Amino acid sequence: MFNYFLLILSAINATSIKKMNIKRFLSVALLVALLSLLPQLLFAKTEKDKITVVLDPGHGGKDFGACENGAKEKDINLAVAKKLRSLIECELSDVKVVMTRNEDTYLTLQQRADVANSNKGDLFMSIHVNSIDKKTKGREYTHGSSVYVLGLHRDQDNMKVAMRENAVIELESDYKEKYSGFDPSKDESYIIFEMAQKRNLGESIRIASDAQNELVTTAGRSNRGVRQAGFWVLWATSMPAVLVELDFICNKEAVNFMLSDKGVDKLAHSLLNSIKKFVERRR
Ligand SMILES: [Zn+2]
Repeated sequence: MFNYFLLILSAINATSIKKMNIKRFLSVALLVALLSLLPQLLFAKTEKDKITVVLDPGHGGKDFGACENGAKEKDINLAVAKKLRSLIECELSDVKVVMTRNEDTYLTLQQRADVANSNKGDLFMSIHVNSIDKKTKGREYTHGSSVYVLGLHRDQDNMKVAMRENAVIELESDYKEKYSGFDPSKDESYIIFEMAQKRNLGESIRIASDAQNELVTTAGRSNRGVRQAGFWVLWATSMPAVLVELDFICNKEAVNFMLSDKGVDKLAHSLLNSIKKFVERRR
């Protein structure tokens, strides 16, 4: 802005300033200052024009998520989401970030979706850490990232992940009425997801693929691929939506990475890069 000011001011040469009286000079200076602001006023994006990205750190409060190896899933999710928020705010001026939670607070799945829908989100990204059934052999060696979009479970493993993430619904005493008869432990409940989010599925898959590639290349996670499963939050949000499983809490090495500053930074940068690509498509 100051450059514009100088440019216009330099157009008024010293001789003409001498000829003006002080009152007239101040009026001209004010006009010049207003003119120099014009480009900013014309091209500045208002809050309304911004792309809204809703970040959803999974679990929180009395809902710990998966817990193992000295780590709580809810804390890792929040640390990565907060880092991602600050990266977006620094690097993407035309993006507004909305967080479903900023602290260690409990939210129902429906409340998370309500935050995304009422803020008219353009993208919903839910952040989680994966785990495996405690009876599964070799679970301590299981590792890698996967990014989910809404869909029918293609295999038992995807179904189990969705069931685990949806199970928080059971913490609500009246969940059967509230969630329209949805029972997170019954496979047939997931059939309702079949037609949902169809119009957003293409974009959701694009974001999921970019995030998955970035988690492998930028954060060095092993690739468990883009998957489909019936997550309540993905169904209840009316925008492109993905659910990220950063890595496994049952794997000590993965936990150490996710708890470290370097790990949080790399994971957040991976997700940032996928959001940058999404924003480019929207511009
Ligand atoms: Zn989770």
